[in-house]
Amino acid sequence: MGGSSKRLMTPRLRKCVACGLERPKTELLRVVRSPGGDVSVNDKGASPGRGAYICSRIECLRLAAKKNALSRALKHPVPKEIYTRIEELCVDRGCGENG
Ligand SMILES: [Zn+2]
Repeated sequence: MGGSSKRLMTPRLRKCVACGLERPKTELLRVVRSPGGDVSVNDKGASPGRGAYICSRIECLRLAAKKNALSRALKHPVPKEIYTRIEELCVDRGCGENG
């Protein structure tokens, strides 16, 4: 709490909505709600709209689903397909096996 001075040069960090840890953007997946209300997974980070970040880990995906963390972060319901899509991306990246 308090004290915002940073001594180290750090890459841009984003907070995972599930575990709350800050990680470099490259280690996270970005879920975006477009101005039109569509929710999509965007791992290049280039779409406009409100974004939420989640680690590309199955654990965090499950936690986010349980807590409804993505919906809350985006202030919009997140369809089940999005969770499926994130899971696919996690598997693609080889995450979720060794935690
Ligand atoms: Zn996480």
